Amino acid sequence: MVKPGGRTTTEAKQPRRVPLRTCVACRSTSGKRALVRVIRLPDGAGVALDPSGKRAGRGAYVCPTDACVALALKQKKLERSLKTPIPDTVADALRALASAGAAATETEPVKSD
Ligand SMILES: [Zn+2]
Repeated sequence: MVKPGGRTTTEAKQPRRVPLRTCVACRSTSGKRALVRVIRLPDGAGVALDPSGKRAGRGAYVCPTDACVALALKQKKLERSLKTPIPDTVADALRALASAGAAATETEPVKSD
């Protein structure tokens, strides 16, 4: 029961079993490349980074790159997505994470005494 041709243009709702992460800046979805999750905290407590991706709350994603972070902040894409202002502390953390992520590859700094 496999249709040849593959792509159909139906507007049927697709089952969303896998939550797709979409960068708010470049709008690209990424499964392999980890996007940074930013969540809105409850009770107007602002926003926070959620590296683990496990915290509850409305989240937005951005690529851990200088370009996407800069764009997301500059054009207030994160703010619009989360419907709340992004504090400077979070913006700075994002920038730091982006520059760190650009440098880091597979090697994590291992701290040992
Ligand atoms: Zn991006």
